Amino acid sequence: MPRSDDAHAPRRKLLREIVRLADVAVFGTVSETYRTCGRPGCHCQRRGGSKHGPHLNVSYRGENGKTTGYYVPKGAEEATRHGVTAWQRLQRCLRELAELNKDRNLRRAREAE
Ligand SMILES: [Zn+2]
Repeated sequence: MPRSDDAHAPRRKLLREIVRLADVAVFGTVSETYRTCGRPGCHCQRRGGSKHGPHLNVSYRGENGKTTGYYVPKGAEEATRHGVTAWQRLQRCLRELAELNKDRNLRRAREAE
């Protein structure tokens, strides 16, 4: 039945996208920070001297509601930035899927009447 296949195509596409995004998603917000170090005489200690950075940080709200975070090492920066973007897109895809689920439930209820 081609008509019913068409009706399911957007769902299948979304589900595939969700799996792909969920596989790499990282929860949190990225920010860049500049720091001073502890080395005596380092340029970062001088007034007006450039600090070290940017360093990537991820912050997020933990389950207890407290904001927490971590420093991202250089080798993980790209994957982390990519992962945070994926998380945001994942939220949008899930919303879209939930909307389709709602429509499907209502349509089934109508058809069952
Ligand atoms: Zn320094």
